[in-house]
Amino acid sequence: MKEVTRYKCDHCKKLAARKSTIEKHELICVCNPEGENCFTCKHMTADYEMNRGEFDHECDKLGGECKKFRALECGNYERLNPFNRAL
Ligand SMILES: [Zn+2]
Repeated sequence: MKEVTRYKCDHCKKLAARKSTIEKHELICVCNPEGENCFTCKHMTADYEMNRGEFDHECDKLGGECKKFRALECGNYERLNPFNRAL
């Protein structure tokens, strides 16, 4: 048996074997008050797509689909405060 090291997010319960995985995750963690994620951005609108049974994430700044990591790069990120989005 070998003992292994795990890295844990400072803000949620996520664990990973690689430190870099958690470093990247913490930047977008929805539990991180400094995190930038489309899910905590006021420009994201979520529409429930009945046909597919899943949410479509649209950005009112981009005028299109939102991807989780894009909030860090798009420059339009504005935190939804208080963060109370119901998904
Ligand atoms: Zn986290």
